[in-house]
Amino acid sequence: MEDQLSFADNPDQLTLKKAFEKALYRMQDAMPRAQFEKFLKPLEVTGRELHLLFVNAPGKFVQEWVRDKYRQHLEEILSEELGERIELVLEATLQSKPAHENLNLVTPPLVAEKATDRYSFDNFVIGPSNALAFNGAKAVAEKPGKFCNPLFLYGQTGLGKTHLMWAIHNLISENNPKAVVKCITSQMFAADFVNALDKGTVAIFRRNLENCSVLLIDDIGFLEGKNRTQEELFHVFNQLHQDGKQIVLTSDRPPRDHAKIDEKLRTRFECGLVADIQPPDTETRAEIVRRKAEGEGVDLDEEVCEFLAGQTPGNVRSLLGALTTLLVHASLSKAKPNVSLAAQVIEKQFGRPEPVKSSPEQIIKTVSSYFNVPVDQMVSSTRKAWVAHARHVAVYLLREATGESWKRLGERFGGRDHSSIMHAYNKVNSLLVDDPEMRQDVYALRRDLHLD
Ligand code: ADP
Ligand code: MG
Repeated sequence: MEDQLSFADNPDQLTLKKAFEKALYRMQDAMPRAQFEKFLKPLEVTGRELHLLFVNAPGKFVQEWVRDKYRQHLEEILSEELGERIELVLEATLQSKPAHENLNLVTPPLVAEKATDRYSFDNFVIGPSNALAFNGAKAVAEKPGKFCNPLFLYGQTGLGKTHLMWAIHNLISENNPKAVVKCITSQMFAADFVNALDKGTVAIFRRNLENCSVLLIDDIGFLEGKNRTQEELFHVFNQLHQDGKQIVLTSDRPPRDHAKIDEKLRTRFECGLVADIQPPDTETRAEIVRRKAEGEGVDLDEEVCEFLAGQTPGNVRSLLGALTTLLVHASLSKAKPNVSLAAQVIEKQFGRPEPVKSSPEQIIKTVSSYFNVPVDQMVSSTRKAWVAHARHVAVYLLREATGESWKRLGERFGGRDHSSIMHAYNKVNSLLVDDPEMRQDVYALRRDLHLD
C-alpha cells in the first residue's frame, strides 16, 4: 500500500507492538500451545493506516489459518487494548517452508504478497448463482467507465463480492499500470472523511478520490445513517461519473434496501448494473473446493471435494475455512485428507448433523405454498403461466435434489412426457443465469428445503 506510513517512522509503533503482543498473550490462554507457536507467535505488525493494522504472517498457509480462525477474536482484543476499532489486514511473506510436505506448496521467491493480489477472475469459479455478477465485473474491468457505471454487486457475506472487486482492481492495474485504481471499504471512506473534516483538509480528500480512474468501495451499507459522509460520497460519485470514471460498489443488500441511505444517492447506485450473488449450488461449491485445493498443490480426492461441498452451507468463506482446517489437520497428523476426517472437521465447525434432505412430496408441497399454487393444479394439465412457473421450479428442484429420471418426474406431474419435463428443467436453468428474481426464488426454496 503506497501511502501507508513506514512502520519504523511511526511514533506510535511501540504502543502498537505492545498492544499486539498483549493481544497474542491473551489469546495464548485460550488455545493449545502447539497451535499458538505455529500460527500466532510468528505474526508481526508491519504498519498501520487509520483503523487498519497490517500484520505479516510467515506464508500463505498461516495467513489463511489465522484469518479464518483467529482474526475476529484478535480484532476484538486489539480494539479493546487500543480503545478504538481495529481491523486486521493479514499479509503473507512467502518465504517460509510449507506447513507440511503433504501440501506440496511451491516455495515462491522472497516477496511479500498482499492478500488481495491473489483475487483474480481466473480463480473465481462461475455458476448460475454468480454469473451475472462475474460477467458484469469482467466487463467493467475490460472497459472501465464504458459498460455499466456504477456496478453494484450485492449478496450475503462470504459469497465473493470482495473477491470480484479486487479482481477488477487487479486486472485494470495489470492492463494499464498507469491507471489510478482505488479499492477501499466504506469504513475507510468514512474515517478518512471525518479525519479530513477534523483537519480542515476536505479539499485534499476530495481531490485524491476524484483523481482516481476507477473507484471501488466495499460494503457500502456501513454508511447507513451517516448523513454527512453520504453527502460527501454523493459529491465524489457525481464528479467521477460525470468524468466517465468507473465506480464499483458492494453491499449485502440491493440498493433499495438501504433505508438509511439518502434516496438521491440510492438511486445513483441503481443507475448502472445491479448484480446479485446468491449462494452457489453444490456443483459450484465442489468446483471451488477442487480449484482451491489444486491451488494449494494438494491432490484432494473427488470424494472429499464432493463431501465438503455437500455438507457445508452456501457461504464460500465457511466452505474454504472447512477445507483449510481439513488440510491443517491432515498435515498435522501426516495423513491424506479423507472423508472421515472431513466429517469430523465439519461437525466441529458447523456443529450439526448431516442435513436431512427433503422428500419429493415435501419439495412439491413447499413450492406449492411458496408460489401459492395448489398441488393439484401443479400436477394438472393446465398451461396457465403462473401454474406452469411453479411447476417448472418444482421440476428443477426435484431433479436437482433427487436425480430422478425425466420419465419418473413426468409421472409425478400428471403423466407428462419426458421432453416437456426436460424443457421445464432447462428453462429454469437458463433463467437462473439471466433472471435475478428466479435466482432469489430458487435459492430461497433451496434454503427452506435444506438442499444446499
Ligand atoms: P464477501 O466479500 O462477499 O463477503 P469474499 O469475496 O471475501 O466474500 O469471499 C470469501 C472467500 O470465498 C474468499 O476467499 C473468496 O476468494 C472465496 N470465494 C467466494 N466465491 C468464490 C468463487 N465463486 N470462486 C472462488 N472463490 C470464491
Ligand atoms: Mg467482503
